[in-house]
Amino acid sequence: FFSVSCLVWLCHPPTWELRSSGFMAQSVPLSCRVDTRSVAATPLLKQVLVAKGWTVTEDSGDYNVWWRTHRFAPIHIKHCRYPRQRLNHFNGTQVLTKKDLLADTLASARAQSGASLAITPRTYVLPRDRDALQTCTEVDVWIYKPGDSSRGRGILLTRDPAALEEDGVVQEYIANPLLLHGFKFDLRLYVVVTSFRPLRVYLYRDAIVRLCAVKYEAGTALSEGLQDVFRHLTNASVNKHNPQAREEREGIEGTGCKFVWDQFHEHVRDSGVDPDRVWARIKLLVSYCCLCAARSVPQDRVCFELFGFDVMVDDSGRPWILEVNFSPDLIIEGGPDQRVKPALVSAIFDTLRMPTDGWAPAGQGAPADGLEGDAPVEGSGLELVFPFDAATERISRALAGPEGQWVDALKEGLGALQDAWEAVDPERTAVSPSP
Ligand code: ADP
Repeated sequence: FFSVSCLVWLCHPPTWELRSSGFMAQSVPLSCRVDTRSVAATPLLKQVLVAKGWTVTEDSGDYNVWWRTHRFAPIHIKHCRYPRQRLNHFNGTQVLTKKDLLADTLASARAQSGASLAITPRTYVLPRDRDALQTCTEVDVWIYKPGDSSRGRGILLTRDPAALEEDGVVQEYIANPLLLHGFKFDLRLYVVVTSFRPLRVYLYRDAIVRLCAVKYEAGTALSEGLQDVFRHLTNASVNKHNPQAREEREGIEGTGCKFVWDQFHEHVRDSGVDPDRVWARIKLLVSYCCLCAARSVPQDRVCFELFGFDVMVDDSGRPWILEVNFSPDLIIEGGPDQRVKPALVSAIFDTLRMPTDGWAPAGQGAPADGLEGDAPVEGSGLELVFPFDAATERISRALAGPEGQWVDALKEGLGALQDAWEAVDPERTAVSPSP
């Protein structure tokens, strides 16, 4: 079967008709443009796309997908021709990927819609929310994070947030994490948005588990070890510096900081948490978060974007979004990366369904309702999580309408997600304690 498909592919590689002069038509392979500044992603893009018959080029000439790890200028978006050309970032997704702006995005959607589902731990933005923070007395431990930092840099845990002088966000510390064989972890999830208005959100089926190097013992971790980054921060960039992360750990297959989530399903079940329910809630959290941002991101149908969602699960099995990452890294550092990332990139390009039938006059510029084009590909691993039924499909389209219509759509959409959340587990729906 393999040799037959190779033969078919060699005779008919995926191509598109390049008609630059308007008179000449020539068939060339689909091409992905990468920037020299984006070198970290290039080897993986090459590995995946060359196998699909694409070319990967650093040239600034014609391309079908332009992939870079930093943002595009508005002019790049303006000159792009949907559906034959796509860019891998929207402008304006800082409303999701900057920690302080994410808190604002969620708070403003909540205020507009009256929705009450808590999807992140309670968060205050400093210096703005200093007074509100001081009135909150129910939280024992807080975690401070610089607003626009990453990889665990600048993070500290404190019982005295009033003493913090730096700008940034202060978040309730989840002191009761679900543990894997005694270690704290978080999940890196891969989310692809192909359109904000209408909203189309895909979630990749495999998540990477990032495990702390040192065991988390709830009592001592919060009394003696508050600044021990190796038990409180799950960033692989932090834990790889601890030799314990390279040792065998009882009950855990493999070593290092990263693992795949499904290898722990049985262990999680043994801890009294149903991993399928966790996943069902994760789909809703991710959709909820993107829906809250839908009106703040300028809609450009030429754009799509891969986000890295970091999610922690508490010991009741409730997932919490910690942050949303811009340009999640596509470096292969070990087995889990090798299992997840090439298949993820392949699924993204398949889902875009780049046309291979040449330039058509109607194909220049984005279509009015914007929903043709990308579509889920059976078995690719990228699942369309929003919209998920006829009602949310209608809501998704209404987001593109005039203000009165989209505020109603936001309310209805968040309401539908909250109902779906309650259907997953009616007992555990916390009401958001907003600042
Ligand atoms: P960064 O962008 O620096 O990685 P994160 O928000 O992802 O910042 O936080 C880094 C790590 O700190 C997370 O991976 C997680 O292990 C831990 N962490 C962050 N927020 C919380 C929280 N509210 N409760 C418990 N642990 C947290």
